[in-house]
Amino acid sequence: MEYDAIICFETHVELKTETKLFCGCRVAYDIPPNTEVCPVCTGQPGALPVLNKKAVEYAIRAGVALDCTINQRSRFARKNYFYPDLPKGYQISQYELPFCENGCLEITGDNGNPYPVGIKRIHLEEDAGKLVHSSDSFDDADYSLVDYNRSSVPLLEIVGDHEQNPLRSIQEARTYLEKLRQILRYIGISDCKMEKGQLRCDVNLSIRPRGAKGFNNRTEVKNMSSFRFMMEALEYEMKRQAEILESGGAIEQETLLFDEVKHITRPMRSKENAPDYRYFPDPDLLEVNLEDKFVNDIRSALPELPHQRVKRIMDEYAIPRDDALILTKDRDISDYFTACASHCRDPKKLSHWIIKELFRLLKDASFAIGECPIAPKDFAELVNLVSQGNVTPGIGRKILDDMFKTGENPESIIHKKGLKPIQDDDQLAVFVDAVMDENPKVVSQIREGNLKPIDFLVGQVMRKSKGKANPKSVIEIIRGKLGL
Ligand code: ZN
Ligand code: MN
Repeated sequence: MEYDAIICFETHVELKTETKLFCGCRVAYDIPPNTEVCPVCTGQPGALPVLNKKAVEYAIRAGVALDCTINQRSRFARKNYFYPDLPKGYQISQYELPFCENGCLEITGDNGNPYPVGIKRIHLEEDAGKLVHSSDSFDDADYSLVDYNRSSVPLLEIVGDHEQNPLRSIQEARTYLEKLRQILRYIGISDCKMEKGQLRCDVNLSIRPRGAKGFNNRTEVKNMSSFRFMMEALEYEMKRQAEILESGGAIEQETLLFDEVKHITRPMRSKENAPDYRYFPDPDLLEVNLEDKFVNDIRSALPELPHQRVKRIMDEYAIPRDDALILTKDRDISDYFTACASHCRDPKKLSHWIIKELFRLLKDASFAIGECPIAPKDFAELVNLVSQGNVTPGIGRKILDDMFKTGENPESIIHKKGLKPIQDDDQLAVFVDAVMDENPKVVSQIREGNLKPIDFLVGQVMRKSKGKANPKSVIEIIRGKLGL
C-alpha cells in the first residue's frame, strides 16, 4: 500500500547574541569548559534572571520573517524536569504566551508549486548545559562531566503545525529545513551550524494510507544534528510505521532516538505531555509587553529575504532564475556577487565566473566565501577584461588562480607574468601567416567555401601565441587575408 507522510518539525536554534539569555556571560564556542558561567546560568540560590533585549529582538525578527502574528504580551514559563545539565531543575521557556504564533514558511513543494508550511509558534527559551559521558571518550571509568558554557544560551524554538499545512514527504522535509536555515542566516540571528549544535531538530512523523483523512499516532525523533541523519531517520521511521500498520498493529506515540551507528530509531522514553512538565509562569520575570515601535522598527529594518534577493538579482542583472537561486543560496555569496556586480559591465558573465570558477577554487581550498582573498572589485575587473576580449577565457582562468593565491589584482598579475594580450594586429598577422603556411589543405578548403575550419586556424594561432591573441581579431585577420 502507498502511504502519505505527515511531517512536522520542532527546530531549536541558538541565537548569536553577544551574551546569554538571562545573564552577562558570553555566548562562545570552542572555549574551555565552564569558563563562561555565573550564579545565574548555573542556577545558584537567590540568583535572578534579567532578560536579554537583543534575544527578544531576534525572536521577533524571526517571527516577522516567517509571517507570524507577533504577540504584544508574552510571558516566560518554567518547564520543570530534572536533568543534570539543567541546574535549576527547570528550563525557562514560554508556554501559553509565546512571542510569535501562526506563521508560515513558503517552500516549493514536490509538485513544483509553492506551499506555505504552517508554523504554529516561535518561542524563546534557554539552552541547557552539555553532558560529556566518559563512554564517549577515551578512558574506561564510568562518569559524566557537565559543561555549563551552553547553559542559558538563547534558544529559539520554531514549532511546525501538524494540522495546518504540514510537510507531505521526506523530500519536502529537507526542503523546509534548508529554507528555514537559509532564512535564519539571512536575517542574521544565527549561524545555524549543525555541526556546532546551533541548529537541532526534533521531527514528528505519522503516516496514513494515500488519500485517507484523519491522523494516526505520530512518533518523534529527537535531536537530529545533520541533514543526512534526519533523512535516514525519516526513511527508516516511515518504513517501520508502514510495516506495523500492514501487520494490523497500531503506532505507539513515543519519542525515539536515531542511532547514528546502526541507522535505526529506538525508543527513548514515552512522550511526556505538557502536564508532566507542570508549566507555570516564571515569577522571577515580568510579563513582556512589546511596544508597537519596537516591533515596527524590527519589521522595517528586516534584512532582504532569500526570495526577495532572487527576484532582485533576476531583475537588476538579468540573471536566469536557476543561476540566481545558486547565487543566493548563501547570503555571503550573494553579497559577494552584488559587490562585484557594481564594478562589472557584464553581470551574466560575472555570475558564470562565480558559479564555475570561483566555486571551484573555494571548494579546492575548503574556503568559505568570507575567506576568499580576491577583492570584489578585482574579480569584477578580471571579468571585464575577459568580457571585452582583452584577455581570453583560458588566460583569465590562469590569472584568477593567481589572484586566488596572492590576493593581487589582475593588472599586476598580467604585468608580472607577461600575460598582456597581443593588441598589435601586425604582430598577430605574423602568427596567422605562419599558421596558414603550415596548413595549406585547410586554407584551400576555406577558399572553396567551407568556412568551418576557420576555427581550427584560430585555435592554432591561439596556441602559437600562448593564448595571448584576441580570437576576434584573429578571425578578422584570417578573413581579410582570404578575402572573405
Ligand atoms: Zn551566566
Ligand atoms: Mn524546547
